[in-house]
Amino acid sequence: MQKGTIGVTTDNIFPIIKKFLYSDHEIFLREIVSNAVDATQKLKTFASVGEFKGDLGDLNVEVKLGKDTITVSDRGIGMTADEINQYINQIALSSAEEFLDKYKNDANAIIGHFGLGFYSAFMVAKKVEIVTKSFKEGAVPMKWSCDGTPEYTLEETTKEDRGTDIILYIDDENKEFLKEDKIFSLLKKYCKFLPVPIIFGKEKEWKDGKEVETDKPRQINDTHPLWTRKPADLTDEDYLKFYRELYPMSEEPLFWIHLNVDFPFNLTGILYFPKIKNNIDLQRNKIQLYSNQVFVTDSVEGIVPEFLTLLHGVIDSPDIPLNVSRSYLQSDSNVKKISNYITKKVADRLEEIFKNDRNQYEAKWDSLKLFIEYGMLSDEKFYERAIKFALFKDEDGKLFTFEEYKTLIKDNQTDKDGTLIVLYASDKEEQYSYIDNAKAKGYDVLIMDGQLDTHMVGLLEQKFDKTRFVRVDSDVVDNLIRKEDKKASALDAEKQDILNELFKSQLPKQEKKEFMVSFEALGKNASPVFITQSEYMRRMKEMSAFQQGFNFYGELPDSYNLVLNTDHPVIEKLLKDEDAACGKELAPINSELSGLKARQDSLRESQKDKKEDEIPVQDKEDLKKTEQQIEEEKSKKNKILADYAASNPVIGQLIDLALLSNGLLKGEALSNFIKRSVNMI
Ligand code: ADP
Repeated sequence: MQKGTIGVTTDNIFPIIKKFLYSDHEIFLREIVSNAVDATQKLKTFASVGEFKGDLGDLNVEVKLGKDTITVSDRGIGMTADEINQYINQIALSSAEEFLDKYKNDANAIIGHFGLGFYSAFMVAKKVEIVTKSFKEGAVPMKWSCDGTPEYTLEETTKEDRGTDIILYIDDENKEFLKEDKIFSLLKKYCKFLPVPIIFGKEKEWKDGKEVETDKPRQINDTHPLWTRKPADLTDEDYLKFYRELYPMSEEPLFWIHLNVDFPFNLTGILYFPKIKNNIDLQRNKIQLYSNQVFVTDSVEGIVPEFLTLLHGVIDSPDIPLNVSRSYLQSDSNVKKISNYITKKVADRLEEIFKNDRNQYEAKWDSLKLFIEYGMLSDEKFYERAIKFALFKDEDGKLFTFEEYKTLIKDNQTDKDGTLIVLYASDKEEQYSYIDNAKAKGYDVLIMDGQLDTHMVGLLEQKFDKTRFVRVDSDVVDNLIRKEDKKASALDAEKQDILNELFKSQLPKQEKKEFMVSFEALGKNASPVFITQSEYMRRMKEMSAFQQGFNFYGELPDSYNLVLNTDHPVIEKLLKDEDAACGKELAPINSELSGLKARQDSLRESQKDKKEDEIPVQDKEDLKKTEQQIEEEKSKKNKILADYAASNPVIGQLIDLALLSNGLLKGEALSNFIKRSVNMI
């Protein structure tokens, strides 16, 4: 019998394994089973090149549970005593402490870095035995045993069959791994697609309302998963079936891509486009990453571009350095190549469907949109590709590529400065009247109501030449696309002041909403009042909802414009009625005001070019007093106008109508409006 100390450069590897690899204990099973699979695959390779001439026979890997053991048996190449010495008894541990300290929470990284696959058994076992017989002719069966100290024993033993049994004596803290259900679910998680049959227990069936064991060995895995097969041999139904197997709870996918490269890296897989409705976050982490059919992880951030994490499916690549930390992954050049490749393939596939079957593509646009927009926003390369197949949907439900759309609106929607104006609505119902007005002018209106559309609008304005996106309710229709210089309002300043006060005094006082009154000459046929919301401020607020650091805008009130159409007869009549009702009362105030203003002007004039200390004290006080008096007279005047406005139901009615068409009239105000309307009838 040979006795020895396991060759490590630090004093003792075992406390390190036990102490540091506390999370992810379960991956020991993946490591041991995939070693067994590797040994089996190697034997098949030897057989195929004639280095092994015997009978391969049954090559299953079997996992068995004993009272306190787990045994993994294979009929692969086995090991000679020399090979045990070489592969098991030497562990290359350099600069171990430092590395272990850095990655102490990442068992995967440590195991990969040191090739500790086999030793991960000691995360759960107090003793491990290897009973093995090499496939080589005349090989002597060997038994290796180690109880979690650096000392091991190696001796000859008896074993009929070639291959290896790894026997783990599970320690007291890890008894859960002796439960059949636990091992079954771990095998299902990590070994579901391994290329050699993995047997665990017997097939079960239902008999007389009870689950009973049959004689049939229970195979855990599908050894030829779909992604390893040739696309030409597969039908749509095969892909859909595989999808259902992976995600039993999900709706049917829209499309799929079968990935298959072997140069400059090796990668296979199938990616599915799910129906993405609204919430991006719910969709993430559905891609499963495999390395030679061994499950590695289902969190693929850093390996595929972020927007692709919305896809579902499987990626299998032995070239992704799986057992390393995430930050290392992101800087790995192979990973970058792979990630670019996947992006390109995804774009290729979308473009192909778009070109070959635009109807199908359009029918699925609503479900694809979020994914494509996310890709365009987050990945420059994808943007460049997607401008060919990303679509705009207009208010009639028609779909256009960006180029098609620009051509469509170019003639009618270019303003006087040559800027193309893209009109859009974010809510078809709420902005109905604005959409209607724009359409009456022959404009086309896009519907941009998706979760990412605010960002898309910003992105496209940057990318498109001389193009602006304007929401239909951001101004009165004549101003949305200015084709000529603005007409000055026919109304003089005095009348504007009066209207301003009449309406301002009656505007609702709503929390976090601010209203301004403005004037436009819009013709007799347009509505007398509108409410518009500045494009700029609204967008800033919308962006702030998504981004940190924009809170300043988020805190500002929503600001609206109440636009009065000074051409409208109702507004003209309102001014006449006001004059009839308040003219007498206001006349003395007005003449007082004009006297005061004249005085204010002359005082200002005389002080204009003087320095502060050259102005006589008397004059300064005079000016101050005059200004005070003006304010007093003005507030008297405003009080009269406000009282009048409150007594004239037309004003309240006009304001409410404007609020109503913007969906801003609610609650008590709405019920007051209805009462007033009934009274007016
Ligand atoms: P890795 O698999 O990454 O090389 P491991 O620590 O898992 O590292 O295994 C070390 C070596 O031990 C393997 O490379 C292989 O040569 C040998 N080995 C482990 N398990 C088996 C087995 N079941 N049959 C034959 N050889 C094995």
